[in-house]
Amino acid sequence: MAYSALYRRLRPRSFADVVGQGHIVRTLKNQITTGRISHAYLFCGTRGTGKTTTALIFAKAVNCLSPKDGDPCGECAACHAVERGGGFNVIEIDAASNNGVENIRDIREEVKYPPAEGKTKTYIIDEVHMLSASAFNALLKTLEEPPPGVIFILATTDPQKIPGTVHSRCQRFDFKRVSVADMTEAVARYLTSEGIDFEMDAVRHAARIADGSMRDVLSILDQCASFYMGERITLDKVMDITGSVDAAVLSRLALALSKGAAAEYLLIIEDILQGGRDAHQVVSELIAHLRNLLIISTAGGSAGKLLDASDEGLAELRKTASELTPSLLTRYITVLSELTAKMRYAGNPRILLEAACIGLAEPVILATKDTKDTKKTIKPENISDKAAEEPVDKIINGWGAFLSSFGAVERNMLAEAKPERGPSGILRIVCGNAAIYDFLKRKREEISAKLAERFGEPVRVEIVPASGD
Ligand SMILES: [Zn+2]
Repeated sequence: MAYSALYRRLRPRSFADVVGQGHIVRTLKNQITTGRISHAYLFCGTRGTGKTTTALIFAKAVNCLSPKDGDPCGECAACHAVERGGGFNVIEIDAASNNGVENIRDIREEVKYPPAEGKTKTYIIDEVHMLSASAFNALLKTLEEPPPGVIFILATTDPQKIPGTVHSRCQRFDFKRVSVADMTEAVARYLTSEGIDFEMDAVRHAARIADGSMRDVLSILDQCASFYMGERITLDKVMDITGSVDAAVLSRLALALSKGAAAEYLLIIEDILQGGRDAHQVVSELIAHLRNLLIISTAGGSAGKLLDASDEGLAELRKTASELTPSLLTRYITVLSELTAKMRYAGNPRILLEAACIGLAEPVILATKDTKDTKKTIKPENISDKAAEEPVDKIINGWGAFLSSFGAVERNMLAEAKPERGPSGILRIVCGNAAIYDFLKRKREEISAKLAERFGEPVRVEIVPASGD
């Protein structure tokens, strides 16, 4: 299948295509037009907000033979070299896998020599917070005596971990989570230019779930497009792929709870879970839905601005909200938020969900019972006691429960992959298709950190594509 991930194919090539980071783009373009370029930058922000993309465009622009208003022309030999990824002037380093002092020493040796071609050499160090202490020291020495014609762009999701000495030598830019509106607009434009047919609500829903990350929204739509080859991308399909629950069903659930209609709400829960939804995700979606209802009932006319919903969606929410009081909604949100923390370690999250709903419908019982439940359910039940078991086996056996510690998108992607025992204690995560592989590869560090946290031992993780894909 000749198919490449949307986010790679649609990677912005000029500053104008970077979504939702207008403040940063403006400053960088100004620096290029005026020639006041710093020798070190620190790009901070959550994943998928455009840090490396912006770094690449900037690197291209500083070497471009005929930049236009701060943007790279995209036509000259220097621009082409960067786009092909084979240029000598732009070096991308992933600090997650090259975090030792020797990697930085190599760079220090290299930068002594002037750029082989073009004006400037740019080093983009991704996930720079992963560098070891000695590597940071080596990097600091280079930053203290910057060699001419060299620019460092350090990108990180965790600026707190950057030593103050390094931090103070860099010009810092903070990348914001991309708003649902900005993301929806950009993605709709992309899909249209690609000739992919879609429903606006489908894109909006994917954007909402992606929570500020362009990469995630494109991953969701990618999965949708590859799963339903050539078909229109609809809200139903996106909900299927992301395991989301229909807003109308969530409204019915909230109303049934408010009426104390046990038979009705238990049946609704049964229906949702029968459809293969995960209890943990159902609760987070229910909380998000209740929040929408609360905003509608308290913010009046401005609610439309605070919620990313279509007009029909807003009308539906208004109708439901009119039957519920703000204090009731607040209580539901509080209790369910506590529930999500408990569910993380629960052996049977479904029972917890049902019990919480019964408690919500009968406030008096809840007040006395809730305190007792906490102690029992918070204990991690899926962690094996067998000390002799290899860490990898332990992980594979507890895989299903482990997935519940991730957000919706990651969890669904991981559920499509298969954990396997690799050579010498490596955990292999085998991915069924290219979109999942691309996505999980980016998450390798996060996955191994969560594994260490949950299973108490560090384990090496490898993301591999399924053979023959
Ligand atoms: Zn150019």
